Amino acid sequence: MLLPIFFAFYSYQNTGSLVAALVAVVVILALFVCVLLHEFGHSLVAQRLGLEVPDITLLPIGGLARLKVLPEKPVDEVKIAIAGPLVNIVLAPIFFAVAFLLGTDQSVNVLERGGSAGQVLFFLGLINVFLAVFNLIPAFPMDGGRVLRGLLATRVGPVRATDIASAVGQFFAFVFFIFGLLSGNLLLALIAVFIFFGASGESQIVRQRELMRGLTVSDVMGTKRRTETVTPYHNFGQVLDSVIHGYQEDFPVVDESGRLLGMVTRNEILAAAHSPNRYGTVRELMKTEVPTISPHADLFADGYRILQESGLRALPVVESGELVGMLTVDDVGQASLLRDLRKQQF
Ligand SMILES: [Zn+2]
Repeated sequence: MLLPIFFAFYSYQNTGSLVAALVAVVVILALFVCVLLHEFGHSLVAQRLGLEVPDITLLPIGGLARLKVLPEKPVDEVKIAIAGPLVNIVLAPIFFAVAFLLGTDQSVNVLERGGSAGQVLFFLGLINVFLAVFNLIPAFPMDGGRVLRGLLATRVGPVRATDIASAVGQFFAFVFFIFGLLSGNLLLALIAVFIFFGASGESQIVRQRELMRGLTVSDVMGTKRRTETVTPYHNFGQVLDSVIHGYQEDFPVVDESGRLLGMVTRNEILAAAHSPNRYGTVRELMKTEVPTISPHADLFADGYRILQESGLRALPVVESGELVGMLTVDDVGQASLLRDLRKQQF
């Protein structure tokens, strides 16, 4: 909100005219609307492709619609990235056409000295050209960099593509920074810094995602053979004995055909042992509303998340109603330890 006030003041100082100050405010607000429309371009395509866009951060040079997850398909990223500049490419001729109809075809800095309606529209047309061109510079993480990354990813894979796009982005950032400093354009120098760090941050995100990808629940779960199960008819003393003397903490409850009915956890068993109620069988104690997971589910994205959300230390792994194993907090912990070791070798 400071920007319109700043330019209003700046324009008023230059011209001494209130109208010019008002024009400056209108131009800045219109600029924000153009940036916003650019971001909506990204969001709209992202939503069409089924990706969530949680928030839009508006920067003076262009917004940043952050995607919660990077698109899995490189082509999707290209589509989303190109949609923003495309909005500006569509808007620019509209502004120019109306300006032309109003009889204006020369450029005036309307932020400094105000201008006619035609001149303002012409200026906005120029701004849209600038937004499109500037964002399409292949300086990652700007739109052009994303297009480059997406196109490269189809050939060399996401990690390598991001590395190349980041390097190109950092090269541009470096050039912008030097140029910005030499020409006294501090805004450009600032943008350069933003691009530089944006590039390396994104590089890490992709690397991490690639390392985490591919592991499924079945890769690390305790298989059914290694899992001690109980039936609802087991008596309480037996499971208590298993908890105290065995290595397993939580027990899936299954029927004769191996279908999952519920689970009894270590905490519940120990609490029951100390409660004044006398429990006869597992049936009286077991939890029937237990979250389960498929053996094909992603280990970190799904397994870890469901464990966290449920607060359980183990999840029954179920395929078409039948128990096939157990995924414990320790399984996930060991897998992530291995992953971190591998990450250091990169
Ligand atoms: Zn954009």
